[in-house]
Amino acid sequence: MARTFRMRCPSCGNVQNMIASGPCGKCGAPLNTEQPAAISVYRMGNFMGMANGFGIYINEQPYGAIGNKESLVIPLPYGDYKMHVVCGMNRKCNDPVFRLSPEDPYVCVKVHMKPGFIQNSFIIERVDPSTMPQG
Ligand SMILES: [Zn+2]
Repeated sequence: MARTFRMRCPSCGNVQNMIASGPCGKCGAPLNTEQPAAISVYRMGNFMGMANGFGIYINEQPYGAIGNKESLVIPLPYGDYKMHVVCGMNRKCNDPVFRLSPEDPYVCVKVHMKPGFIQNSFIIERVDPSTMPQG
């Protein structure tokens, strides 16, 4: 199975999945999946079997949804990235910040939902790359 890259077009904001560099599906701007760094995201299966996608935000910018047990690679330039996940009315998240640098260019995270009394919350957890599902 090929890796899926999740790209956000810097020109028009269109979010799309790609398997390699190519034009934005909306405005045609070239999108380069070969960035120096990346965040690899895996959504863990959850017991409620929620079919709804979890919406991913990076530095407040929407990066589309991730389905149950789906994994995505988000190529990014070096920098600091705050990650946030929402689903419907559930907007509580631990909002981790990851620094992508030449020393630490590749961050793997797992996302899961923690059921709560008032509302559910999302936990984004950095994990060792060897624990990620092999795509
Ligand atoms: Zn575009």
